[in-house]
Amino acid sequence: MKFLSRAVKVIKRTKSVKSIRFEKPEHFSYLPGQWTFLIFGDGPERIMKPLSFSSSPTEDHLEVTKKLTGLRFSELIDDLKVGDTLSLDGPYGSFSFLGEHDKVCMLSGGIGITPLRSMIKFCTDKKTSTDISLLYSNRNEDEIPFYDDLMPMQRANPRLVVNMTITNPSPAWRGLSGRVNGEMIKSTVPQWAERIYYVSGPQPMVESMTSLLTEIGLDPSQIKHEYFSGYNRSNAGEELVG
Ligand SMILES: Cc1cc2nc3c(=O)[nH]c(=O)nc-3n(C[C@H](O)[C@H](O)[C@H](O)COP(=O)(O)OP(=O)(O)OC[C@H]3O[C@@H](n4cnc5c(N)ncnc54)[C@H](O)[C@@H]3O)c2cc1C
Repeated sequence: MKFLSRAVKVIKRTKSVKSIRFEKPEHFSYLPGQWTFLIFGDGPERIMKPLSFSSSPTEDHLEVTKKLTGLRFSELIDDLKVGDTLSLDGPYGSFSFLGEHDKVCMLSGGIGITPLRSMIKFCTDKKTSTDISLLYSNRNEDEIPFYDDLMPMQRANPRLVVNMTITNPSPAWRGLSGRVNGEMIKSTVPQWAERIYYVSGPQPMVESMTSLLTEIGLDPSQIKHEYFSGYNRSNAGEELVG
């Protein structure tokens, strides 16, 4: 469905991550984890890129969240102001979760959190019985997108456990550190072998997480993933591309 919508809020999540909230049209529906195209301009100048909804269908607004890389699409998003009208085309995608599994593990790094945040918020608002274990990797503890959103959700949802690992921590960091590896999954995710895994982010990161999961013995049918194409070492950095 193609539609126009007005930006109602801009939220700076970290130094390089911004969320744009916009009006949800009356009859628009989507599943947690799905994505939309954002369309800028017309004709040969048109730029049309996919972004996952970071909002949940349980919320009154729509929201997308972009890692700002300084490239063209990032600049267009960074320039958006409250009141601007956006052109969208969505929802698309089959990477979604409505609480249909009893135990899931969500794995992500940096901006890859967006569809998972949508799913977690949905399960929290709907009070689903799903046991969710999130293992979320970031480079620095002061640049964790949605930190201020995930921690209150963990307090509100007794079935949600949020584990964060920092690959370049400050001496003050008391949590997990280093890249996600098999030992970290086994020691932080209870009943890790029984879960369905939802992995999302830039393609190289998802591929390395998926290999890791099969190496520790998970069946490919237990792993669902969303690739964010459009990232490479020039715009995502080592951290995101694995
Ligand atoms: C299903 C899906 C969901 C996604 N969800 C999200 C999300 O929630 N959040 C998010 O941040 N991203 C998401 N993405 C990725 C997003 O669509 C963009 O591709 C990505 O953010 C890159 O944007 P950018 O501004 O860095 O670069 P862009 O301007 O889009 O450039 C992308 C690529 O083109 C190259 N490039 C750019 N300009 C030039 C040029 N002039 N000449 C040659 N090459 C060039 C860049 O090196 C880069 O590799 C998603 C992707 C998919 C497929």
